[in-house]
Amino acid sequence: MQLWRRYLRISIVWKLAVALALGVVAGLIFGPAIGFVEPVGDLFLRLLSMLVVPLILFTLVVGVSSISAGYLGRIGGKVLAYYLFTATVAITLGIVAALLVSPGEGISLPAEEGEGEAAPSLGEVLLNIVPENPFAALAEGNVLAVVFLAIIVGIALSFMRESGEERLRDLAGSILRLFEGGAEIMFILVRGVLEVAPLGAFALIAVTIGETGAAALVPLALLTGVVYGVIALMIVFYVLLLLFFKVDVRRFFSTAAPPMMTAFVTRSSNGTLPVSMRAAEQGGVREPLYGFSLPLGATINMDGTAVYIGAAVVFTANVVGADLTLGTLVGVVLVGVLASVGTAGVPSAGLVLLTLALNQAGLPLAAVALVAGIDAVLDMARTLCNVTGDLVGTRVVAATEPEMRETPEEMRAPEEPAPA
Ligand code: ASP
Repeated sequence: MQLWRRYLRISIVWKLAVALALGVVAGLIFGPAIGFVEPVGDLFLRLLSMLVVPLILFTLVVGVSSISAGYLGRIGGKVLAYYLFTATVAITLGIVAALLVSPGEGISLPAEEGEGEAAPSLGEVLLNIVPENPFAALAEGNVLAVVFLAIIVGIALSFMRESGEERLRDLAGSILRLFEGGAEIMFILVRGVLEVAPLGAFALIAVTIGETGAAALVPLALLTGVVYGVIALMIVFYVLLLLFFKVDVRRFFSTAAPPMMTAFVTRSSNGTLPVSMRAAEQGGVREPLYGFSLPLGATINMDGTAVYIGAAVVFTANVVGADLTLGTLVGVVLVGVLASVGTAGVPSAGLVLLTLALNQAGLPLAAVALVAGIDAVLDMARTLCNVTGDLVGTRVVAATEPEMRETPEEMRAPEEPAPA
């Protein structure tokens, strides 16, 4: 008990960092034999995904009901513009860096053909935002559909609250209290899950490194280097954006570190949502903004994945000795940015998007098979960048909307005591 209390007092960032380092070492030492810890990692993933849908629903309904529809449209426009802008920057940086380094030179394709997976068309994606059955959307964890549902329910509630009929105002008040309570419960649960996160993080990273192994990375070391290098550049780009909008960068990263690490080990932006929402809340962003921008970002904003697609397309062209024209590259940028809209933030989603981009560029899909072997290692960095991008966007939009920021007195302390 004494030990547990002492454990609770250590900052979650440190606990996760130590778990990560130990996981890498264990994976390298034991290789695939470390696979027996996998259930611990899976348990952590389950605990996180258990919280995603109720958290989005509760926070977003409460948030949206407190602002006007027109205002919501304005901040929604800003969030989308930011997401589009950074994704374009990311994929362009990925392409340019790979063109400079030529990571695929000296590698030949394996004999077997890659399996091309079909991604839904943009029209289909947009249509799927409107759920046929809201309960099915909730049960299936369809993030965009849940966001849509929560927004319209929130808008209906705000109409009820302002209605001339007392009965409707009463009802709206009761339902809002219920949802507010639900959101608070979820935040307490997220806090609890974070306390066991180091165990899960250790297991997930050890298994990934154990299975991939350093040997698998060597032939594709240049591609890995380009992807990790450009993602590091993206982080610098985020810092510049934060500075430009006069956001306290240190405070931002001290609250963003837990979701960044969670993204790194879970390789899922969707799964990381509960941790990102908690971080945004601690960073002083209000519910109507983060309740909307983070779930949306987890699905449509994938800067890290965009970097990877840009770099992997150039890599494939190197491998097969194809020349890429400017027109082809522009096509890849467009497809890369648009396709990410329709792909959920789940592990290895980037591989599906890569298939699409290779199709667009007229390159053979066999390269997918080549990259697939090390995909987990690339996915860790991609997802970290994806989640960081969503958080930066949320914070930057909040910087331009005073109503979406909490005053210093209202903000929760970054390390509030854990529930006993
Ligand atoms: N795993 C990434 C995410 O969840 C997507 C990808 O595979 O690039 O954001």
